[in-house]
Amino acid sequence: MIQIARPYSWWSLPAMISAGLLAIPIHSQVDRSVTKLAEGVYEIQHKDARDGSASGNTTVIIGERQVFVIDSCFLPSAAREDIAQIRTWTDKPVAFVLNTHFHNDHNFGNRAYMDAFPSLTIIAHVETKKDMDMFGPGSASREEQGLANLKEMLDTGKILNGQTLTSEETTEVKNALAQRMRIIDEMRNVTFQSATLTFEHDFAVDLGNREVQIMFLGRGNTAGDAVVYLPKERIAIAGDLVVYPIPYIYDGYPVEWIHTLQNLTQLDADTIVPGHGPILHDKAYINLVRDLLKSAVDQVYAKLRQSGPAMFRSLDEVKGAVDLTSFRPRFAGEDKDIAAEFDDMSANLVKVVFEEASLR
Ligand SMILES: [Zn+2]
Repeated sequence: MIQIARPYSWWSLPAMISAGLLAIPIHSQVDRSVTKLAEGVYEIQHKDARDGSASGNTTVIIGERQVFVIDSCFLPSAAREDIAQIRTWTDKPVAFVLNTHFHNDHNFGNRAYMDAFPSLTIIAHVETKKDMDMFGPGSASREEQGLANLKEMLDTGKILNGQTLTSEETTEVKNALAQRMRIIDEMRNVTFQSATLTFEHDFAVDLGNREVQIMFLGRGNTAGDAVVYLPKERIAIAGDLVVYPIPYIYDGYPVEWIHTLQNLTQLDADTIVPGHGPILHDKAYINLVRDLLKSAVDQVYAKLRQSGPAMFRSLDEVKGAVDLTSFRPRFAGEDKDIAAEFDDMSANLVKVVFEEASLR
C-alpha cells in the first residue's frame, strides 16, 4: 500500500517519489485541534492534506495590545481559518508572525496574515529569511512539477524505481493527484510573503503584559531555527528542532543539533510545542532525540577515525558501521508504521551526518 507522508510539503513530490519515500505510512496529525496552553496562549495543530503534505503547528500568544503568532502553516485556507479563530479570541491585531524556519509548511500562510493585518511584521532568523527568499517564491511551480511525476506513475503503472503499482496503489496515486491539484490551485493565487524583519541572536517583545522571548539556540534542523520562550508561563515553542513522534531529519546540521537541543532543555519549561505532533509536557522526548543524534554522530565518526576522512570514503562504506536499531522501540514502541518511519529517518540521519562530515 502506498501512503505518502514525510517529508513535508516544502519538499518537491518528485524528490519524494524518486527517493522511494512513497512507501512511508502516514503518522502525522489528521484532524485540526486547538489546545489552550495558558490564559491567552493557544496551540493549533492542523489537518493534514490527504496527499501527505502537512502543516506545522501554529501557536498564538495574546497580549493586552498585540497578538504574536508562531508559524503561519502551509495552506492559506488553513491560515485564514486560524485567523478567523484568533478573531473570536481577541479584537487585538496580530502584530507579529514569527517563522521558526524556512520550510514552507510553516510559512506559506504568511500572505494570508499580511492580507488580514497589513501592518504585520514577519520575523525570521537572518538565515531563515535567506532560505525563504530562495525557496518560497518557487513553491507552487515545484508542486506543479510533482504532478508530472504522479501522472507518469499512472501512465506507466510504475513507481519511478520501476516497481509495478497494484490496483489499490493506483487508486491512492489518483487520490493524491486530485488532492495535489486542489492544493496547487490554491497556491497559484498566492504571492509568497517572506520575512520583513530579521534577527541573529536573542530579543524580546512585550505585547502588553506578556513578554515573548525569541531565541537562536544554534543550528539544527536548518541554519536559522528560531525558538520562542514564554518565561512567565514556562512554555517553549521549538519549531522542527523537535518533531513528534519521529524527528524530521532529511537535512540539517546533526553535530550542532545535539548542542542546540541541549540548550533547549536548559529552558525552564514544562510545556513544549513541537513543530509537528502533540504538545510535550517534559523533556524526555527531546533528550531521546538528542541521544539518537549523538549516537549517529559518534558511530559515523568512529568509523571515519578508523577508515579515514569522509571526503575519501563513500556513504555505503560508512553506513554498515552504524546501528541505530536499539532506538527503534524507544521511538516506535510496538507500532509497526512508526517503526518503518524510524528506519527511513535513521537511514537519512546517517546520510546527513556523513555529508556533514564530508564538508570538513
Ligand atoms: Zn515542518
